[in-house]
Amino acid sequence: MKKQNLVIVESPTKAKTLSKILGNDFLVVSSMGHLIDLPQKKLGVDVEKNFQPSYVVIPGRKKVLELLKKEAKGKNKIYMATDPDREGEAIGWHIKNQIFKNKKVLRVVFHEITPSALKNAFVQPRDFDLNMVEAQAGRRILDRVVGYFLSPLLWKKIARGLSAGRVQSVALRLIVERERQINNFIPQEYWEIEAELKKVQSTEYRVQSSFMAKLVKISEEKAEIKNKQQADDIVLDIKNNTFKVLDINTKEKKRYADPPFITSTLQQEAFNKLRFNATKTMIVAQQLYEGIDIGDDNPIGLITYMRTDSTHVAEEALKEVRSHILKKFGKDYLPKEPNTYKLKKHAQAAHEAIRPTFIAKPPEGIAKYLNEEQYKLYELIYRRFIASQMTPSRYSVTTVDIAVGKYLFSASGSTLIFDGFAKIYNHNELDKEKNVIPALEKDEILDLVNLSPSQHFTKPPARYSDSSLVKKLEEEGIGRPSTYAPIIQTLVMRDYARRLRGYFYATELGSKVCDLLVNYFPKIMDVKFTAHMEEELDEVEEGRLNNTTILEEFYQPFKASLDYAQANIKKEVLTTNETCPQCGKPMVIKWGRKGKFLSCFGFPQCKFAKSITSGVKCPEVGCGGELIERRSRRGFFFGCSNYPKCNFISKNLPQDQDKEPA
Ligand SMILES: [Zn+2]
Ligand SMILES: [Zn+2]
Repeated sequence: MKKQNLVIVESPTKAKTLSKILGNDFLVVSSMGHLIDLPQKKLGVDVEKNFQPSYVVIPGRKKVLELLKKEAKGKNKIYMATDPDREGEAIGWHIKNQIFKNKKVLRVVFHEITPSALKNAFVQPRDFDLNMVEAQAGRRILDRVVGYFLSPLLWKKIARGLSAGRVQSVALRLIVERERQINNFIPQEYWEIEAELKKVQSTEYRVQSSFMAKLVKISEEKAEIKNKQQADDIVLDIKNNTFKVLDINTKEKKRYADPPFITSTLQQEAFNKLRFNATKTMIVAQQLYEGIDIGDDNPIGLITYMRTDSTHVAEEALKEVRSHILKKFGKDYLPKEPNTYKLKKHAQAAHEAIRPTFIAKPPEGIAKYLNEEQYKLYELIYRRFIASQMTPSRYSVTTVDIAVGKYLFSASGSTLIFDGFAKIYNHNELDKEKNVIPALEKDEILDLVNLSPSQHFTKPPARYSDSSLVKKLEEEGIGRPSTYAPIIQTLVMRDYARRLRGYFYATELGSKVCDLLVNYFPKIMDVKFTAHMEEELDEVEEGRLNNTTILEEFYQPFKASLDYAQANIKKEVLTTNETCPQCGKPMVIKWGRKGKFLSCFGFPQCKFAKSITSGVKCPEVGCGGELIERRSRRGFFFGCSNYPKCNFISKNLPQDQDKEPA
């Protein structure tokens, strides 16, 4: 039977799920992403004429357009069901503009791929949102202009083949500056003194557990102990004195559940709890969103759309989760009114938080249809959503001030009164061991079990992880749901930063690129300015600004910096003590896309070049080569300078397993 209607989406998995749900009347075809874009080898933007973009069909994608055109013939209706954000809107609009100029194309928007959501969307299609399309174009043009003009400067100064992006470069700056803070950090020694105390034993035999108190003040001043001598003196001074309870304070504290996930918080929590990097989180989330076959060849989307900055929850879902909480946990766990969460500025109220689409499908129940990663992420999303609509946890927090002569110790401990949302979503800090403080009275004398001074050093700021970098990008306003993961991915792919055991290290190459850009393009590298541009793109999407205004605001200062840089940037030459074995000229350090290497100063007359070795001998018996850092599609490794005669490779330098890049 011939299908009546055509539905266009951007991914094959999504097409399959939609096809199953929509049934026989709908032919669902995937565009496999963007089909129309700026040209690959030209600027494609007329900077003299209002930044008019000239779009072209992406090489190799013509066939898809022809297929779509063919499938549209004789159909009753054409629906565009691409994702509900700027990219989705733009993909759809470009297709319509390219091949369906004189045809009616109905835009359908849904945030979850489930029968009820699709039914709703298809009965109320809308027109294309041209403000969204324009905001997408604005970002594309900005990024293109920056990349197109900056990359050749990097080639001139550092190495051919390098590239610079707009927001990525600012993110790189954050990583490079953190790297330097860490390198310049001078640790300061300090000491802490902890007392292990317990109630004085009564005559009856009772086991009393001890508790810990920390020295906080000396003669009313904050206790600052700089070295061992001072610590020892204090210990001696305290040891034979009596500890007396000065004050006891018990308060009830509430801890409220966190909001349901948005893209940034999902990426943070998936790193903290599951050690997924941002890209992996988005790949797995997309699988859950686009449809999982949960038996009987019946795929459905298990979560709502994963690119969102809204904590809003649909009315239906709210009802469903509240009745689930009441049934499963009882009325103490259900707040009288649904919990509401503040929306961020510019957050799309029409968008939704990332949540499960069916509360009745708990992760345990569908485990056999999910792979391990899908299961873990689905469980995280599922639990977080239910917790977000539960009552707060309640604690009794006790703080005790204890005096010994002029010294003041403080102890605090908390006990759980009611678990609330923590019944299903454990917070990392709740798992920590607790200091349990026994019932005490004012002026009570305590027994000292142990007095322990401990040496510490102040610590440099922590390196960024996928979690803390996404958090920082969000706080600074320089990332959006669709960009956090690609920003990070790009920096790693270009080898400007490396991820080691989950934390980012700026590479020497990344630092060089960053310094050059900061010197010549301070505005592009300015966090505040970039945040301002992102905000203006949001305003374009809201229809309150147009692209020409923001592109002009951006381009004038950019052009001035560019002209200055083009006139003044010279390639730097770093000579070494080595001489060329072929012509005797000195060898100089050059940069390639794959890192540093030695090249003859006589280049291009003399083409002699060699790798810079790690200085570590190849462990292969009788080889005599040295290990060289190399790069493949799968990451970094060390190979032998005698390759291909010697095939030795290793992930790390043999004698230095933990070596980290400088
Ligand atoms: Zn030479
Ligand atoms: Zn070797």
